[in-house]
Amino acid sequence: MMINGSCLCGAVRWQYDGSFERMAHCHCGMCRKAHGSAFATYAVGPAAPFAYLSGSEKRISRESSKGFVRSFCETCGSVLPNTDLGDIVAIPAGLFDDSPGLEASAHIFTKWKAPWHTISDALPQHDNYPGVADPAVDTVTTSASGDGALRGSCLCGAIAFEVQAEFKVVHNCHCSRCRKSRGAAYATNGVLSDTAVRFTRGANKLKECKAPGAKFYTQTFCGECGSPMPRLDSSRSIAIVPLGALDDDPKRGADDHIFVGSKSAWVPITDDLPQFTEMAT
Ligand SMILES: [Zn+2]
Ligand SMILES: [Zn+2]
Ligand SMILES: [Zn+2]
Repeated sequence: MMINGSCLCGAVRWQYDGSFERMAHCHCGMCRKAHGSAFATYAVGPAAPFAYLSGSEKRISRESSKGFVRSFCETCGSVLPNTDLGDIVAIPAGLFDDSPGLEASAHIFTKWKAPWHTISDALPQHDNYPGVADPAVDTVTTSASGDGALRGSCLCGAIAFEVQAEFKVVHNCHCSRCRKSRGAAYATNGVLSDTAVRFTRGANKLKECKAPGAKFYTQTFCGECGSPMPRLDSSRSIAIVPLGALDDDPKRGADDHIFVGSKSAWVPITDDLPQFTEMAT
């Protein structure tokens, strides 16, 4: 089976001419930061059927923990397939352009799950993952910075920010751009006034990429590690904050699912939140 995938900007393209062995949702703190989402979903299979078609020179790779390398597209920040695992490859499912031919069969590293995310399906949940070392970085959110602001940061730590007001709304967005920019099933983004978000470290490391054909959609990410970072859009007076980047617990999850009309075929929605075909009304 030929399965194609690509990053948000389209520079990096790959294909997988085979069948994956398994797919799982990873709730570790490193995935949450690298993807800026509630959790990451990876399809795993033999490495041999995997090939880059274009853009492999755009890959920036760095160790996120000892011996574990993560890669992202230098232009758009999308998390790229993990091809540094020896004879297997692990592909972030949000990048698929075609059906991967399977659905997730488990949640892994749920001991590190975001406190603001509730798992609502019936798949088995594993605190750890058999045969894989525990995540070296424990970014489970603690709370309280004293002044009530929520702190957040990227995976490599170069960039840090503060959210100084309550989110007006938090959306789980299933649009194809969010799936690509997060490399995940969907993005979970908090929205509030742009004046309430402030970068406290490393703002000069931020990079931006406007999605091809987009009016507004821009991915903001750390140029060092690729982690999605808050986007401050002064033209609309809003900030869009990827909840996966938070170090503190916002004490609330998503309000709804939006753009479910373009949602992936490989993750069913199993919670009771309102669903909107496009924008929330
Ligand atoms: Zn790209
Ligand atoms: Zn993970
Ligand atoms: Zn970083």
